Amino acid sequence: MAFISPIVFAIVTIAAFAFAFKKGKEIYRNINLGQSEDLTDQPGTRLKNMLLIALGQKKMFRLTLAAIMHLFVYVAFLVTQIELLEIFIDGFTGQHRLLFYLFRDTLDSGFLTGLYNFTISFIEVLSILALVATFVFLARRNLLKVPRFVKSEMNGWPKLDANIILIAEIWLVTCIFMMNGADVALQIQKTGSSPYGFLLSGNIVGPALAGLGEGTLIVMERFGWWGHILGVLGFIVYLPFSKHLHIMLAFPNTYFGRLKPRGEIYNMPAITKEIKAMMDPNADPYAAPPEGADAAPAKFGAKDVQDLSWKNLLDAYSCTECGRCTDACPANQTGKLLSPRKIMMDTRDRLAEVGKNIDQHGPDFVDNKQLLGDYITVEELRACTTCQACVQECPINIDPLDIIVQLRRALIMEDSNSPEEWNLMFSNIENNAAPWQYSQQDREKWVNDLN
Ligand code: SF4
Ligand code: SF4
Repeated sequence: MAFISPIVFAIVTIAAFAFAFKKGKEIYRNINLGQSEDLTDQPGTRLKNMLLIALGQKKMFRLTLAAIMHLFVYVAFLVTQIELLEIFIDGFTGQHRLLFYLFRDTLDSGFLTGLYNFTISFIEVLSILALVATFVFLARRNLLKVPRFVKSEMNGWPKLDANIILIAEIWLVTCIFMMNGADVALQIQKTGSSPYGFLLSGNIVGPALAGLGEGTLIVMERFGWWGHILGVLGFIVYLPFSKHLHIMLAFPNTYFGRLKPRGEIYNMPAITKEIKAMMDPNADPYAAPPEGADAAPAKFGAKDVQDLSWKNLLDAYSCTECGRCTDACPANQTGKLLSPRKIMMDTRDRLAEVGKNIDQHGPDFVDNKQLLGDYITVEELRACTTCQACVQECPINIDPLDIIVQLRRALIMEDSNSPEEWNLMFSNIENNAAPWQYSQQDREKWVNDLN
């Protein structure tokens, strides 16, 4: 019967990875529905940004306590992958702690055995720190109700998603200690001592469990082992549906971040050309465009996700829903409807819907919905001051403002949908090259009063 376990393990593992791969392909396809944008210049600066911001968590440290707690979970997640490696090897081969016995008995290497014990002990310490952080996170969201976690866009699935992952973290850590502790206890019962040198399960959990019956300990060890690996595989399957996709996407997202100075808003070439012609007294407004000149764009700004750049769409999938952007947003702080986090969540939800439509009805299907209006309202868009605070605060360099600006451009230039005060300002700029209502000839008059 011993051969059944590796077969079950292989089937479950392959099925989980195959599903995650399929969903990953869909997400990649969805991101590529966006407009092309070349973000491959200055690879050195991009690599530095990725290492500092995604790997080094640099921007997280604007909020020190949250950053330290997040660091515990993040480092525990990274380092636990080493123990997972052994679980996968054991799972496929049907062995028990194959690496430990390989290092100790077959290779007879004190160094490798010591390294193994150190690694598992390190994982155990990190797991406890991650557990503490997880309880703090649960309390902040559900008991203390930190304002940025209880805004209206976090109702329903986003709140549940955050809690599911935190509870899954508790499950994974519990299973690790159940697996290691019961294993140590069994060894103590059999030989009087444990061959392993695990810091916490070797000195605390294992001895505490040693009084249990052998059958109970075997069940506990297997339950911990299977519980841990099924938890991990479940996480892999769940990831494409969760904000926790940022664990992976934060890296490409920071690498491909825009390197332009913050505060510089992207000009539309067709509009720039118009303005330049307007400012040129010799320009012929009726002249045909020179041969080879860029045709006027089919659409100004963006109305739906396909009009946005692929980087906007990668941003949307990468958003951690942390709400730091919304917390810093002056429009949100003063009670306006706008939340930059919601802009990112809406963009992702609409993109997922468009992707689903393509899968179910083919690429030409039209559902008569769009991001502008059906997901993000005019009131939200008008509330933005373009201050860039959201961009500044985002721990993984997401740019909600860029989406807002593109939607607002469509609203104004495509739909002529702007308040009367704005229309007055637009016509002043068009006629007087200034937002005020006076003649161009008068614009230097104020200088006459100066010496
Ligand atoms: S740029 Fe707009 S959305 Fe971002 S913080 Fe400022 S007002 Fe809020
Ligand atoms: S855009 Fe950035 S700051 Fe805002 S919720 Fe998403 S990850 Fe957090």
